Amino acid sequence: MKLQADIQFVKGVGPARAEAFKKLSVPSAGALLRYYPRAYEDWRKIVPIREMPVGENVCIKAIVAYAPQEIRTGRGMSLYKTSVADDSGVLNLTFFNNKYVKHMLKEGETYLFFGKMTVGRYGEREMASPLFQKPQSADKIRPIYPSSAALSTKIIEKTVRAVFEELEAPIADFLPESIRKTYGLCSLDWAIHKIHFPETDAELEEAKKRLIFDELFLLHLGLLLLKKQKKQGRTDYVLQKPSVEAFYKTLPFTPTNAQKRAVNEALSDMQSGEAMNRLLQGDVGSGKTLVAAALVYAAYQNGFQSAVMAPTEVLAEQHFRSFQSFLAPLGVPIVLLTGSMTAKQKREAQAILESADGALAVGTHALISEAVNYKNLGLVITDEQHRFGVNQRAALSEKGENPHTLVMSATPIPRTLGLLLYGDLNVSILDELPPGRQEIETYAVPLSYHNRIYKFLLKHVARGLQGYIVCPLVEESESRLIPAEQYYEILKNGPLSSCRLGLLHGKMKPKDKDRVMRDFKDGKIDILVSTVVIEVGVDVPNAAVMVIENAERFGLSQLHQLRGRVGRGKEKSTCILVSDAQNEEAKTRLQTMCETSDGFKIADADLKLRGPGDFFGDRQHGLPPLRIADLLRDTRLLETVQTAAAALLSEDPSLDAPEHKALKKQILKMFESANVL
Ligand code: ADP
Ligand code: MG
Repeated sequence: MKLQADIQFVKGVGPARAEAFKKLSVPSAGALLRYYPRAYEDWRKIVPIREMPVGENVCIKAIVAYAPQEIRTGRGMSLYKTSVADDSGVLNLTFFNNKYVKHMLKEGETYLFFGKMTVGRYGEREMASPLFQKPQSADKIRPIYPSSAALSTKIIEKTVRAVFEELEAPIADFLPESIRKTYGLCSLDWAIHKIHFPETDAELEEAKKRLIFDELFLLHLGLLLLKKQKKQGRTDYVLQKPSVEAFYKTLPFTPTNAQKRAVNEALSDMQSGEAMNRLLQGDVGSGKTLVAAALVYAAYQNGFQSAVMAPTEVLAEQHFRSFQSFLAPLGVPIVLLTGSMTAKQKREAQAILESADGALAVGTHALISEAVNYKNLGLVITDEQHRFGVNQRAALSEKGENPHTLVMSATPIPRTLGLLLYGDLNVSILDELPPGRQEIETYAVPLSYHNRIYKFLLKHVARGLQGYIVCPLVEESESRLIPAEQYYEILKNGPLSSCRLGLLHGKMKPKDKDRVMRDFKDGKIDILVSTVVIEVGVDVPNAAVMVIENAERFGLSQLHQLRGRVGRGKEKSTCILVSDAQNEEAKTRLQTMCETSDGFKIADADLKLRGPGDFFGDRQHGLPPLRIADLLRDTRLLETVQTAAAALLSEDPSLDAPEHKALKKQILKMFESANVL
C-alpha cells in the first residue's frame, strides 16, 4: 500500500467507515498517519487501589468480584455496576448503557483498568466507565485519537496499525540528513511510528520533537520564501530631500523622542536605495499617525504619492481627517477612497491619483481595487495591519513599482511570533506615550451598578466632559441583550434624559455616522451610545468616561483599544466594565484590564487566553493550520527553527538544490490549503 491510497482500501475499512474518515479530513492512508493522537493512556504504571490519587488518570490491576449487575433507571437507561479488588483495597465500577461489559468482565479474572477515581458519599472509591483490558495485551502507552460518533479511538487505532502493516516502504524523509544531524532529529518514518505507538516517554518526546520541528520549520521557510517572492529590492523612490522640519514646525505639540526616532529610522530606509519594509509598533495613543504623516510629507516633498490603508471605513475616515489636519496646511493633496462612496466621488478621487504628484490616498481596501491607478505610488502604509491578510498587503504594494512600505500595529507582538508574521521586517517601536497622559482608572462592576454609573456620567457632563457607552453587537436571536438602538431610547427617555445623547451604530449610513462623530467631537453631544464602531473611531480628548456594557463579550485587545479612546486629554479618565459574567475566562479578562494598562502585558494575556490562532485574526492571517506545534508552548523550538531556516536559505536561497527538492515540495503542500504561496 502507498501513502496516497484511498482510506477505503485499508484493511477493515469499507465504504461506510471511509466516509466517516473523510469527515475527519482523513481521505488517505497517509492522512491517517498524520492524524495524531490527542493524548495517550499510560498502562504501564500500575497503582495499588489504596494509593490511587483522586481525579487523575491511573491504571490499576484488579480482580473482578462479580459479573456486572444491571440496574435500570428511567427512560430506558441502564447502569452496570461491579466491584474489583487488589491486595490493597476495593473499587466500585459503574458503566453506563454498555450491555457488553456484562459479558466482557468475568468474575474472578484479573484485568487492567484505566480511568479517574472519585470518592463516594461514604468514602468509597469509585470509577465511572474505565477502559479495561487483559493484562498480557497491555502494559504500554496507547494512543487516544480525536474520535467521532462513527469512529471510536479504538477503531482508529486499529486502522492505523493496519496502515503500518500494509505500507510498502518506509516513509521518505524530506529533511536533509545534515539538518537532522545538526538539530538531533530522528527520521520521519520513526517519528510517525512512535507518535502513534510509543513504548516509552522518551520515544514519544523524540517523535514529538521531530514532528513539531517539521511543522514550524516548514511554516517559517514558507513564509520566508513568500516574502522573498515579494522581495522589496531596489526602488526608484529614493528620497533626495528627507527633511521633515517644516512638518514638525506646523504641529501643535512637540513630537516625542520615540516618534522622532521612528521617523528617522524610516527616513534612512527611504534614502538607502532599497525599498523600506518596516513595522511600526506602538500601543494605542502612542501617536503612530504622526509618524506616518511625517513620512507622507517627506514623500510628497520628493513628488511621490502615498497610500494609507485602514481595515474599516470608520478608521479610514478618521485617518483622512487626521492626515488632513496634519498635511493639508502644507499643501499635500489628500483624497479619501472607500467602498461606500458614490461612483462620481470615486472617479474624482481616482482622477487626482492618476495625475497629482505627491498626492495622498487614504482609504479601505478600495485603494487596491482595479479601477485605481496611481501616478507614482512611492509609499504604502497599512494600519492595524494584523487585520489584513498577507495578500491584501501585497496587492497594495503592487499598485506601485516597489514602493516603500510601513505597517502600523497597535498590537504588541511577542518577538518570536513577530518573526513568523513579519519575517525580515525592520521594526520601530513607540515605547513612549505623549506627555500628560494619565493612567485610566478601570473598574469591573455588576449590572446592578447601573444607577451609580448614570450618576457618575451625569456628574462628568455637568463638568463639561464627555463619555462613551459602548454596547456589544447583538444578533437578533439574542433577546436577552439590548441592542444599542434600543438602549439609546431607554436612556434618552429615562436616566440620561437631562443630557445630550448621541447614537452611533454599524448600520447607519457613513454620512450619518460622520455627522454624529463630528457632533461628538465638536462637543454637541455629551454622551455617545455606540456599538464597537468607535473602537477605531474619533479621537476626542474631552471624553473622560468609557462605559462598556456586557464587557464579557469583548476580547482583551478590543477592550484595550476601546479604553484607549479615553485618557487622551488632561482630565483624569475612567473606564467601567459592566458585566455579570460568571465564567472564569471572562472574569480573568476583566481582571487583567483592571490591573494593567500595558499593551504588551495585555497582548500576552490575550495570547494565553485565546491562543495564537485567534490572535492573528482567524484564518485571515493566511497561516496554514498547525497540527502538533503550539506557537506559545514551543517558543524554544521556534527559535531553533528560525536559526535553521536562516542558515538553510543563506546556502540555497530558493531551495532549488536537488537535495532540497523534497523539502520544497512539502512546504508547497503545507501552504497549498492556506492559499498564499
Ligand atoms: P495611535 O498610535 O493609537 O494611532 P494617534 O496617532 O491616534 O495614536 O495619537 C493619539 C493622540 O495623541 C492624538 O490625539 C494625537 O494628536 C496625539 N499626539 C500624537 N503625538 C503627540 C505628541 N507628541 N504630543 C501630544 N499629543 C500627541
Ligand atoms: Mg491609530
